[in-house]
Amino acid sequence: MVVNMKIGEYQLFPILTSHFRLDGGAMFGIIPKTLWNKAMPADDRNRIQMVTRSLLLVNDKRRILIDTGNGDKWNDKFKKIYEIDNTMVDLQSSLSQIGFTPDDITDVINSHLHFDHAGGNTKIEDGKVIPTFTNAKYWISRKNWETANSPTEKDQGSFMADDWNILKENGLINFIEGEKSIFPNVSYIFSDGHTPGMVLPVIKDEHNTLVYCADLVPTSTHIPLPWVMAYDVQPTITIKEKKELYSTAVADDWILFFEHDPDVVAATINYDGKHFIKNKIITFE
Ligand SMILES: [Zn+2]
Repeated sequence: MVVNMKIGEYQLFPILTSHFRLDGGAMFGIIPKTLWNKAMPADDRNRIQMVTRSLLLVNDKRRILIDTGNGDKWNDKFKKIYEIDNTMVDLQSSLSQIGFTPDDITDVINSHLHFDHAGGNTKIEDGKVIPTFTNAKYWISRKNWETANSPTEKDQGSFMADDWNILKENGLINFIEGEKSIFPNVSYIFSDGHTPGMVLPVIKDEHNTLVYCADLVPTSTHIPLPWVMAYDVQPTITIKEKKELYSTAVADDWILFFEHDPDVVAATINYDGKHFIKNKIITFE
């Protein structure tokens, strides 16, 4: 289904910011490779192809960007491990395709502060880390901020302080706390299974609801309840949160937006009596 995606006062644009690869076993937790490899085939180093996909909301006043991808602050060794590839597409090129530059962004929402979601918050210029979006307010979950700044041994490799320190120093951060809606037609679901205080923006009007699933459901292959990542700090909470989301998503035909799926941008879901499954695939015009 091709949709000219307008919800409320916003035109919605998927913004591809990079291709990269993560370990397939880590991406699917307890699910055997014989099963996940059919849907997302691993390369010779057991990594699966993924993307970072932001979502841009545009109305006559604001350009709101949800997540900023891997960015480009990485050294060659790190780039090689994750095969981070900005040669085909990056934030700048994807924005310019629809007539925008980073300076046009008024607001950045980070679902959470893992490097593949917040890496593009900042960039390096003349050897210095500076904000990528010079005219933007950055909206960050207070709870995830606290986690990111005192991570556990399990998740410390996913957080890079260069993605946010300079924003704090320049007073560019607004914290998201509690069940608030900060823009018209945009509210949040809070989720703790993947990382404490992850924020899933919900864009809603009387006809359509779209949920930016971030790392609660990173790809459409992760729709089945037990298909959760080994990266999650509390996988059983992730499953509970997926269940809660799905009960409304099935009943009200919500659109789930997938940040890391290389092929499926968004889809509605169904319950076949046994499993949750993809229903309609949504293609943006
Ligand atoms: Zn994450």
